[in-house]
Amino acid sequence: MAYTLKFIKCPICKKKTLWKGNPYRPFCSRECKLADLYHWLYEEYRIKLKEEELEEEVHPEKEEEDEGV
Ligand SMILES: [Zn+2]
Repeated sequence: MAYTLKFIKCPICKKKTLWKGNPYRPFCSRECKLADLYHWLYEEYRIKLKEEELEEEVHPEKEEEDEGV
């Protein structure tokens, strides 16, 4: 049986990269793995910001109370 090398396409830069022995798979390099990680952290951060904005809209009387006292 011939030994076949399996190639995968990096989801970040779309470069062909070797699957076997690649510690950063499915990415081609550490840079692409980090890029993906930052992407997820950024998305999570955006979701958190949205939730905070909504919470403020739900309790608008809190600010009025402070002004009255
Ligand atoms: Zn890549």
